[in-house]
Formats: sequence, C-alpha cells, structure tokens
Amino acid sequence: MRVVFVGPPGAGKGTQAENIVRDYGLFHLSTGDALRAAVKAQTPIGIKADEYMKAGALVPDEVVIGVVVERLDEAKDGCLLDGFPRTIAQAEALDKILAEKNAPLDVVLELAVPEEELFKRLASRGRADDNPEVIKQRLVAYHEQTEPLVGYYTQSGILRKIDGLGTVEEIYARIQAVLNEYK
Ligand code: ADP
Repeated sequence: MRVVFVGPPGAGKGTQAENIVRDYGLFHLSTGDALRAAVKAQTPIGIKADEYMKAGALVPDEVVIGVVVERLDEAKDGCLLDGFPRTIAQAEALDKILAEKNAPLDVVLELAVPEEELFKRLASRGRADDNPEVIKQRLVAYHEQTEPLVGYYTQSGILRKIDGLGTVEEIYARIQAVLNEYK
C-alpha cells in the first residue's frame, strides 16, 4: 500500500504517521525529518535547505525530489510519504517516478484541522521553526503551494479527508477505517 499524508503544519501528521507505519508495516519517509537530519549533519543538501526551513519557506522542488528518489527504493512493501509532495510539481514528479515502477499511489489522506487550532498546537511544540513569525510563513506556504494538492488528488479520485480534531486515538481510528479499505 502506498499512502501520501497531506495536511497543514501542526495537523498531527508526524504523530499519526508513527501509528500507521507501526501497524501497517509501511516504510516511513518524512521529508521534514530527512531534511532536519541533513541540516544537522551539514551535508550539501542540509546547508541549502537550512535557510529555507528557518524562514518557513519550502525547500526547492529539485532538492526535495532528490531526497525522495534516493530513498524510495527502500519502500518495497509500501510506503507512507509524510510531508511529500508539497507542491503540484512534486506531485507530478512523484506520479512519474511511481508510474515507472508500476506502483501508483493507493490513497492520499488529507488531515484537516482549522487554522486557530494549528496555531495553538504549533506554539506549544517549541521546534526551531515554531516561532510565531515562521509559523505564519509556513501556513502561507501551505495555503499557496500545498493546498492545491487537494484538488489534484481529488481529480485523481484518491483523496480521502480525515477530520483532524479530537484525541490522537479518535483521529487514528478514523485513519484506520479508511486504510483498512485498501489493505
Ligand atoms: P510541518 O509538517 O510541521 O510543516 P515538516 O517537518 O514536514 O513540518 O517540514 C518542515 C520544513 O521542511 C518545511 O517548513 C519546509 O521548509 C521543509 N520541507 C519538508 N518537506 C518539504 C517538501 N516536500 N518540499 C519543500 N520543503 C519541504
């Protein structure tokens, strides 16, 4: 099963992704985690990504696509892509890569959370890019560059919306109800 997880910053994708990969045996590819590791190790990609991440901007498509291509080969038994794609160009690149492997996406989960709740969650999290100015920028980037993916995958017929309000357990139960249709 190949799954994409879409949702604004603070929606809880990381938390739910852990549950999903544990129970469904999927390879977890979080571009946010991969980029943070690259920044920490000060690799060429990390040095490039750092300035964008600090500003709450998206890292350029070609950089992120390179990170994904490198790792996707590890995903023999299915994958959960978390934080990728984040732009239409990334989604098109992904479709192309997966078509070459004859392994198209099964489902895209959109984790939906109202904006005022996102602010509350992000402000209490305390990651380096979680200060108010940067949070604002990340939400702008989400609306302008990532939200169009909802339309893109609705057209492909594989988008499923998940209500992201409630306890972690409640939200995970909603996710399981959808994923179990594809097992
Ligand atoms: P969140 O979901 O909380 O916004 P992530 O950990 O997924 O956080 O991503 C953190 C930052 O990493 C983003 O703000 C962005 O700068 C960069 N990033 C992650 N994934 C991508 C991507 N697919 N394309 C461009 N930039 C990305």
